Amino acid sequence: MCIFCKIVNGEIPAKIVYEDEHVLAFLDINPRNKGHTLVIPKKHYEKFDEMPDDELCNFIKGVKKTVEILKKLGFDGYNIVNNNGRVAGQEVNHVHFHIIPRYEGDGDVVKFGEIKKVDLDEVLKEIKE
Ligand code: AMP
Ligand code: ZN
Repeated sequence: MCIFCKIVNGEIPAKIVYEDEHVLAFLDINPRNKGHTLVIPKKHYEKFDEMPDDELCNFIKGVKKTVEILKKLGFDGYNIVNNNGRVAGQEVNHVHFHIIPRYEGDGDVVKFGEIKKVDLDEVLKEIKE
């Protein structure tokens, strides 16, 4: 059983921010900023696109609810990050959205990499072929 499933069934402790029938939100054990929270569906799926639409709906509502709760921290903004696959930096193979509160002047907390030279027309062609 994966580590996040173990959190869902209480085998591993977590600092729970929000919980309902469908989702669990808990503080990231290695926070990138104050209030860094992970939101997971209680049911195990590895990747975002593997989740059925109705469950995604409940999941995203849980993400929003968690953001509302985190507002207590007085953040100035927030990033929502979801990594899928090892190449994308997914370390835990159970869908999770990171909610990372942002505070003025907090620096390089979440950053896009360098801009790559990609032919946009070529990409679109490849997608639509
Ligand atoms: P990712 O790289 O997107 O798969 O992120 C996995 C995240 O899970 C990392 O930010 C870890 O710090 C976090 N994490 C791993 N184990 C735990 C745990 N037991 N409780 C809370 N957060 C965890
Ligand atoms: Zn799991």
